[in-house]
Amino acid sequence: MAFVITEPCLSEKSGECVSICPVDCIVEGPDQFFIDPDTCIDCGACVAACPVDAIVDEHDLNPAQEVYLEKAESFFGS
Ligand code: SF4
Repeated sequence: MAFVITEPCLSEKSGECVSICPVDCIVEGPDQFFIDPDTCIDCGACVAACPVDAIVDEHDLNPAQEVYLEKAESFFGS
Protein backbone atom coordinates (compact mmCIF):
# COMPACT_ATOMS: atom_id res chain seq x y z
CA MET A 1 0.00 0.00 0.00
CA ALA A 2 1.09 3.55 -0.57
CA PHE A 3 -0.06 7.11 -0.79
CA VAL A 4 -0.41 8.63 -4.24
CA ILE A 5 0.00 12.22 -5.48
CA THR A 6 -2.86 13.14 -7.80
CA GLU A 7 -3.99 15.83 -10.27
CA PRO A 8 -3.92 18.98 -8.08
CA CYS A 9 -0.12 18.66 -7.89
CA LEU A 10 0.12 19.32 -11.63
CA SER A 11 -0.70 23.01 -11.26
CA GLU A 12 0.64 23.50 -7.73
CA LYS A 13 3.86 21.49 -7.33
CA SER A 14 4.60 23.21 -4.02
CA GLY A 15 6.87 20.40 -2.83
CA GLU A 16 6.03 20.93 0.83
CA CYS A 17 5.54 17.17 1.19
CA VAL A 18 9.16 16.37 0.31
CA SER A 19 10.80 17.50 3.56
CA ILE A 20 8.02 15.98 5.68
CA CYS A 21 8.50 12.40 4.43
CA PRO A 22 10.54 10.36 6.97
CA VAL A 23 11.81 7.93 4.34
CA ASP A 24 12.56 10.45 1.56
CA CYS A 25 10.37 8.70 -0.97
CA ILE A 26 8.85 11.82 -2.58
CA VAL A 27 10.70 12.87 -5.72
CA GLU A 28 10.17 15.73 -8.17
CA GLY A 29 9.18 14.64 -11.67
CA PRO A 30 8.84 16.73 -14.81
CA ASP A 31 5.21 17.73 -14.24
CA GLN A 32 4.43 16.73 -10.64
CA PHE A 33 5.92 15.16 -7.53
CA PHE A 34 5.77 11.38 -7.13
CA ILE A 35 5.71 9.01 -4.13
CA ASP A 36 7.74 5.82 -4.59
CA PRO A 37 5.09 3.16 -3.85
CA ASP A 38 7.74 0.59 -2.94
CA THR A 39 9.33 2.83 -0.29
CA CYS A 40 6.31 4.64 1.22
CA ILE A 41 5.60 3.39 4.76
CA ASP A 42 2.03 4.73 4.78
CA CYS A 43 2.62 7.11 7.67
CA GLY A 44 0.29 9.73 6.18
CA ALA A 45 2.45 12.67 7.22
CA CYS A 46 2.53 14.14 3.72
CA VAL A 47 -1.26 14.35 3.43
CA ALA A 48 -1.60 17.31 5.79
CA ALA A 49 1.48 19.01 4.32
CA CYS A 50 -0.07 19.28 0.87
CA PRO A 51 -1.80 22.68 0.39
CA VAL A 52 -4.02 21.37 -2.42
CA ASP A 53 -5.07 17.98 -0.97
CA ALA A 54 -3.39 16.12 -3.83
CA ILE A 55 -2.21 13.14 -1.73
CA VAL A 56 -4.59 10.19 -1.47
CA ASP A 57 -4.38 6.74 0.12
CA GLU A 58 -4.01 4.13 -2.62
CA HIS A 59 -7.18 2.43 -1.43
CA ASP A 60 -9.19 5.65 -1.55
CA LEU A 61 -8.34 6.52 -5.17
CA ASN A 62 -11.40 7.08 -7.34
CA PRO A 63 -11.36 5.58 -10.86
CA ALA A 64 -10.12 8.82 -12.41
CA GLN A 65 -7.20 8.93 -9.96
CA GLU A 66 -5.97 5.36 -10.59
CA VAL A 67 -3.81 6.64 -13.43
CA TYR A 68 -1.66 8.52 -10.91
CA LEU A 69 -0.60 5.29 -9.18
CA GLU A 70 0.33 3.83 -12.57
CA LYS A 71 2.16 7.05 -13.40
CA ALA A 72 4.17 6.85 -10.14
CA GLU A 73 5.02 3.19 -10.72
CA SER A 74 6.16 4.03 -14.24
CA PHE A 75 8.24 6.99 -12.98
CA PHE A 76 10.09 4.77 -10.52
CA GLY A 77 10.34 1.92 -13.02
CA SER A 78 8.37 -0.62 -11.01
FE1 SF4 B 1 6.35 9.58 2.89
FE2 SF4 B 1 4.61 8.90 4.80
FE3 SF4 B 1 3.76 10.28 2.68
FE4 SF4 B 1 4.49 7.73 2.40
S1 SF4 B 1 2.73 8.50 3.58
S2 SF4 B 1 5.06 9.44 1.06
S3 SF4 B 1 6.17 7.59 3.88
S4 SF4 B 1 5.22 11.01 4.25
